[in-house]
Amino acid sequence: MVESKRISEILNSYDKKNLRIATVCSHSSLQIFNGARREGIKTIGIAVGKPPKFYDAFPLGKPDEFFVVDSYKDIPKCTKELAEKNAVIIPHGSFVEYLGADNFANIELPTYGNRNVLGWESDRAKSRIWLEGAGLSMPTEIKDPRKIDRPVIVKYHGAKGGRGFFIAKNNEDFEKHLDRDQKYTIQEFVLGTRYYVHYFYSPIQKNGYKLSKGALQMLGIDRRDEANIDEAHRLGSIEELENIGIKPTFVVTGNGPMVLRESLLPKVMEMGERTVEKSIELFGGMVGPFCLECVVTDKLEFKVFEISTRIVAGTNLYISGSPYADLVQPGLSTGQRIAQEIKSAAKQKKLGEIIT
Ligand code: ATP
Repeated sequence: MVESKRISEILNSYDKKNLRIATVCSHSSLQIFNGARREGIKTIGIAVGKPPKFYDAFPLGKPDEFFVVDSYKDIPKCTKELAEKNAVIIPHGSFVEYLGADNFANIELPTYGNRNVLGWESDRAKSRIWLEGAGLSMPTEIKDPRKIDRPVIVKYHGAKGGRGFFIAKNNEDFEKHLDRDQKYTIQEFVLGTRYYVHYFYSPIQKNGYKLSKGALQMLGIDRRDEANIDEAHRLGSIEELENIGIKPTFVVTGNGPMVLRESLLPKVMEMGERTVEKSIELFGGMVGPFCLECVVTDKLEFKVFEISTRIVAGTNLYISGSPYADLVQPGLSTGQRIAQEIKSAAKQKKLGEIIT
């Protein structure tokens, strides 16, 4: 990982009155650029090959300038040029994936958030230590496939967006579907309804829902649309489908808006709070947007099956606010909240607390 001293040196050389928000043109970039625009911060869209035409269809989400590279892997070679533009990188899921986690960790550019979180998020065993250590309840992990005694979901390591995951009802089913060349984790398949909760943690905010340091917000909730599992039942039962060679898949195709029963909100805030407090204890704290991906059971228990520690694409629903964000500031998006945070940290001379 790039030394924090090196990032401080680069940041010290920046003109703090002319910071620019830079991100890769994908995922939640329209929202990030739009949010920065609303806060009066100029933006840089990093694109491969040529400037993507589709931004012309969405002028308020278009970056002020494009920075074109031949391949995402070339971004680390262009850091000097980007630093001369006072670029602060906003990571999102596709940014980290296209660049590769190691390249991302080493990139010599001021980056919003704590890079130490990467190792904790991407390793399923470590994220379990973190979340269970925070007192959150997770789906039971079944270490020995011979002990599968309930429906399970089998997750391959490094598989992004649920690709290749499968459901097994028993050990025989598991053996039939397993790809032995890949590392996997077996998790209890939790029956309930899925909620992907979008939080925002600021270590520098002084008001609101206070934590030991800073404050926590909850800006929205979505549910992912996943093909083909979400619509498979229209054709028949999973068993019937498997008999004709169709397997359920969990590939994210889009997102839909959700609200929770209001009585569950105190629990949701508490879960976010504990996750942040534990992160402070384990690795100095995560910073900014994060998402707890949960199944809520008919006993109204939250089972958290994953954490994403940066802006998630589900927040794209709420570019003009959400039923929760509107109670913080009407029309607030996560993209705008990020821009506000950078502006506020620059003003308070606290950029070092939110950028690594
Ligand atoms: P991403 O990184 O895009 O969040 P991923 O590849 O890490 O995805 P998960 O988010 O862990 O995968 O799971 C993909 C989908 O599988 C979930 O959105 C959810 O629909 C389903 N799923 C995951 N774990 C469980 C579980 N324990 N019980 C029921 N469904 C689950």
